[in-house]
Amino acid sequence: MAENRDYLIELDAAIGDADHGANMDRGFRAVREKLPGLADTDIGAVLKATGMTLVSTVGGAGGPLYGTFFLQAGMKTTGKTELDLAGWTEAFQAAVEGVVQRGKARPGDKTMVDALLPAVSALQNACQQNTPLPQALQESAEASRQGMEATIPLVARKGRASYLGERSAGHQDPGATSSFLILKAAAETWSGS
Ligand code: ADP
Ligand code: MG
Repeated sequence: MAENRDYLIELDAAIGDADHGANMDRGFRAVREKLPGLADTDIGAVLKATGMTLVSTVGGAGGPLYGTFFLQAGMKTTGKTELDLAGWTEAFQAAVEGVVQRGKARPGDKTMVDALLPAVSALQNACQQNTPLPQALQESAEASRQGMEATIPLVARKGRASYLGERSAGHQDPGATSSFLILKAAAETWSGS
């Protein structure tokens, strides 16, 4: 988020209020500061602390939505110190369902949901085919990239960008972009590539 702060600001400037990059960078910086204190806990505790930190620091539409995302993932990973592909898929699916429930966005509304749902499908397919974890993570990031790019021609029906109506078409959604960045970071970090 730090590396992509300006990129996300630029995207949000085109169809929103230019704060998404600053919001996300502030939030994930605060998360990083919390991590050393969570070293002896489990995955669920780390994810729940991440969600709570994002809720209280990110603001805008992204704060509650990404907060819900990590809190829901944390509920599915309580007490766990390792995750395999099935465990990550279950946690990620719950996280995305939380975002959908909270924000009520449907596919094609030009939101982060358009980058998150294709990643859920990719992970589920990978589970069925017993794909090795690194490859599954890369496939989910790639599915998310395609979902993100597919938001460009869409007209926004949720959030601030929806105020622009037809004029929101032709721009990539900032939230879909930050969601892709999360999937990409997961793939790069956990697949060792
Ligand atoms: P704000 O719009 O309040 O300034 P941000 O700029 O941080 O908040 O986040 C904007 C992003 O939030 C959008 O690009 C979109 O992806 C996402 N978003 C907005 N409303 C919703 C919603 N109801 N459901 C899912 N995502 C949403
Ligand atoms: Mg904004």
